[in-house]
Amino acid sequence: MTVGPGRVVVLSGPTAVGKGTVMARFRELHPEAYVSISATTRPARPGERDGVHYWFVSDAEFDELIASGGLLEWAEVHGAARYGTPRRPVDEAVADGRTVILEIDLQGARQVKENCPDACFVFLAPPSAEELVRRLQGRGTETAEEQARRLETAATEMAARDEFDVVLVNEDVERTVAELVELCGL
Ligand code: 5GP
Repeated sequence: MTVGPGRVVVLSGPTAVGKGTVMARFRELHPEAYVSISATTRPARPGERDGVHYWFVSDAEFDELIASGGLLEWAEVHGAARYGTPRRPVDEAVADGRTVILEIDLQGARQVKENCPDACFVFLAPPSAEELVRRLQGRGTETAEEQARRLETAATEMAARDEFDVVLVNEDVERTVAELVELCGL
């Protein structure tokens, strides 16, 4: 399966599966594709920059984005913070014939499926459940409580992998990125 120009690719998968690393490498290799920058109400982690990793917004600003129809989809993730895809840059990139990638959670992917059924839905899976726990604990950016909450969400997300068009097992970042690039027809 390959996706033509101006198409939307949705990449989902459980916490700590490596979506961030895969997307960072993808961006480096294919700056001509548009990788959506989400808005979020969660605080920035050390090293994260506004407008690069996310648009970090207040609850009131997020409410305003919803009310004005500025989000293509949005969800509360891990019961902790809200995340959403700004609509306008996606519409503009599609109109320009660029491939668009949305790295969003399962709830968001389901909303895009409703509104944009032509999108290609890709699920990034870990080599095993044990490996997922190891990666989450290893990156050490979340508290034990937050890790437990993320693993709960991960179990729900893993159960939904059959809803996706393609499942990529993220064993090796370079190989996963190569598969994604091929899928995007780039
Ligand atoms: P993190 O806090 O680790 O950066 O992201 C947590 C989760 O939020 C990830 O599963 C990520 O895919 C999801 N996420 C990031 N941006 C968006 C978005 O715009 N919409 C939705 N629905 N989920 C998002």
